[in-house]
Amino acid sequence: MKIFEEIESEVQSYARAFPRVFNRAQGEYLYDEDGNQYLDFLAGAGTLNYGHNNPHIKEMLLAYIEADGITHGLDMHTLAKGQFMETFSEKILRPRDLDYVLQFTGPTGTNAVEAALKLARNVTGRENIIAFTNGFHGVSLGSLAATGNSHHRGAAGVSLNGTTRMPYDGYLGEDIDTTAFLDKVLSDSSSGVDAPAAVIVETVQGEGGINAASFDWLRNLETVCRKHNILLIVDDIQAGCGRTGTYFSFEEVGIKPDIVTVSKSLSGYGLPFALVLIKPELDQWRPGEHNGTFRGNNMAFVTAKAAIDHYWSDEQFSNDVKRKGNYVSSRLESIVTQFGEGNFTTRGRGMFQGINCVSGELAGAITRKAFKQGLLIETSGADDQVVKLLCPLVISDENLARGIDTLERAIRDVCAGESDIPEEVNFFDESRAVA
Ligand SMILES: *Cc1c(COP(=O)(O)O)cnc(C)c1O
Repeated sequence: MKIFEEIESEVQSYARAFPRVFNRAQGEYLYDEDGNQYLDFLAGAGTLNYGHNNPHIKEMLLAYIEADGITHGLDMHTLAKGQFMETFSEKILRPRDLDYVLQFTGPTGTNAVEAALKLARNVTGRENIIAFTNGFHGVSLGSLAATGNSHHRGAAGVSLNGTTRMPYDGYLGEDIDTTAFLDKVLSDSSSGVDAPAAVIVETVQGEGGINAASFDWLRNLETVCRKHNILLIVDDIQAGCGRTGTYFSFEEVGIKPDIVTVSKSLSGYGLPFALVLIKPELDQWRPGEHNGTFRGNNMAFVTAKAAIDHYWSDEQFSNDVKRKGNYVSSRLESIVTQFGEGNFTTRGRGMFQGINCVSGELAGAITRKAFKQGLLIETSGADDQVVKLLCPLVISDENLARGIDTLERAIRDVCAGESDIPEEVNFFDESRAVA
């Protein structure tokens, strides 16, 4: 279709990597207008943990629409919102012994981050926020100031103030605990680092290249925050909602953040929805002080509740994600061993893993090759050097294996310097499938 070249802004990104017109999706599959089938290892950058058009969730959504349920209600009390809150409280917060109030922000991740930072600053009366190297928190100005990537920061057009960058876990090598440095600068009144309101951290950095912080580092970070009276904000927008194997990515770490942001897979259906979870004593907002027209995406309340009811009422789903995560680990380790340690390394945890190809060109060649064989998969990291496996968590074992097979073949072909295979090969067309 010509219209995309004619009048869509140059700002497009994923569309350039996957230049097809998609028109249908189900589970872990996407289809283009020519009927080609793709296995989706991008999953809306972690927004489709339960797959495309998940049937359990769709059923609830269709019934709600059919009955003329409220679609938009600002922040008014609606039945859909109340029922989501009851479910979230009973099935997510209470079993994990988490005591939070819920702030409904504008429906994107960056809206939640903006609200979290604003609240932390207002509550503490301090401006500075500690953010980490390679962190990604969104691209509106407040969250962009906490984001590391120079490509995104460069587009701001204004100075990005109010944050201090600290080295993330592993940034200075495996043996250096960077929280010791944070502790030191916060203890030293002439370090030049202003007393911060909060630390904002991802437990696994998604856009920054699937860097998983160790549990010890995260615990030490919490200890430093408590010692210096700083709020701990966990940005769980990508790592949360089951991606690492538990609902929140920090559950097994044993830390209790003061503020948590969630979005991406929160609605469970790809509908926009974001939340800030706030320790009750920090909820010092005055009525209407922070707002947003779309704080009440009622269709997302319905789908989020359906996702929690179906997948988070017991341990089964979580165990299944952990099992698949172990499978991914073993496959990726085998790829690294086959194609040269040193060239490739594995990263991440749970179903949030990737292969560091060191060079962005190499990673790009691999993902392009994979796409031609029917696999949608993207890169992340400072130089787009990490191939990022983000398939829906509900993917069948068979398709998980097939997707990784395709990736492995793409890596083999690229390493062998093989020229491009014909454009139209569709891996999932059985007659042309590679054995
Ligand atoms: C995607 C993401 C955001 C931003 O969410 P948007 O909906 O794109 O604004 C913030 N933090 C993390 C960790 C993310 O992965």
